[in-house]
Amino acid sequence: MSNLDREAEPTICGGRGFVVAEPVRELLSPRRVKLGESTEVRRLLPNLGRRMVGAWAFVDHYGPDDIADEPGMQVPPHPHMGLQTVSWLHEGEVLHRDSTGSLQTIRPRELGLMTSGRAISHSEESPRPHARLLHGAQLWVALPDSHRHTEPRFEHHGDLPRVTAPGLSATLILGELDGAVSPGTTYTPIVGADLSLTRGADLSVPLEPDFEYAVLSMSGEAHVDGVPVLPGSMLYLGCGRTELPLRAESDASLMLLGGEPFDEELIMWWNFIGRTQDDITQAREDWMSGSRFGEVKGYDGERLDAPALPPVPLKPRGRVR
Ligand code: MN
Repeated sequence: MSNLDREAEPTICGGRGFVVAEPVRELLSPRRVKLGESTEVRRLLPNLGRRMVGAWAFVDHYGPDDIADEPGMQVPPHPHMGLQTVSWLHEGEVLHRDSTGSLQTIRPRELGLMTSGRAISHSEESPRPHARLLHGAQLWVALPDSHRHTEPRFEHHGDLPRVTAPGLSATLILGELDGAVSPGTTYTPIVGADLSLTRGADLSVPLEPDFEYAVLSMSGEAHVDGVPVLPGSMLYLGCGRTELPLRAESDASLMLLGGEPFDEELIMWWNFIGRTQDDITQAREDWMSGSRFGEVKGYDGERLDAPALPPVPLKPRGRVR
């Protein structure tokens, strides 16, 4: 998915100044963002109150939407730099194409993991025909400086490891939870897990005290560390926890996102993550001139133009919330 905001504002993030070292319970409200004609998403990260969780730098939740009589998701070719994209579905399917030649349908609880490295472009669309419902999340993971110029690649993992306990089935998206390890390639200590809870579930999942965490609610009525989290909302949890109590009033689905606090300061603008103003300006120029980002073959439509850069210089800043 692309950031389709035509007035893209730069986001300065990363650095220890943003991280809460002890356990907290900060409920983050979503911002509604239009993606093209028919899709509206709820953006949880970046958020006014919170920019990153570990290396997780961008979280959109969408649906469930009835797209039986609509084109559904139609995101034309657009570029990425300095990040990985994670496509995660609960309902429906997304057809992914990219400039490395990938053509892959992603289905519920399969991992579509795209590592942009220095440059990639891709498109995402609801295939024709498609299922009635579309429900999922699109997430970005920032690449550390040591790997941000890596070769672009796309991975699809259709059979992810699971952890089960009474009332819980957890699917590992990235990283490790309770001994289960995702096959998805990671570049910083990170975890992403899909937690399916059955009504009446009352349990705790183990956490790493050095990680910071947040939980996104996908569906149902769940309490996270005692806080009710409605679908499309996210609870930031800080660091310093060894376990997380979960309780479900109905069948419910949560996404657990965590990782080692991301030390490097970043500039995030449109679909790019860089370290300097020049990184971003050059990436925009290269996309607009048709160089570096390759070509997406087979998408029926025009590629996306980059929005104008803001007039003020983009500079990483220190402690800002
Ligand atoms: Mn994208």
